[in-house]
Amino acid sequence: MCRTCGTSYEYPGHNSLATRTVCERCIEIPEETRRVLGILRRRVEQLTKQVASLQGDTDERQSA
Ligand SMILES: [Zn+2]
Repeated sequence: MCRTCGTSYEYPGHNSLATRTVCERCIEIPEETRRVLGILRRRVEQLTKQVASLQGDTDERQSA
């Protein structure tokens, strides 16, 4: 799985520039930018989980 965008890909790919931690799409991004994207991806993951748990709360209240 790509550390930057979170996509899963085959490693090593055929004629692929991808490394073990960075997919072919992200390998062209400068390293410092990739680092920021990785931070944002983790933040989005956290928020996605938070939204899912909030939706769960709402469903419980509605059915009660
Ligand atoms: Zn990637």
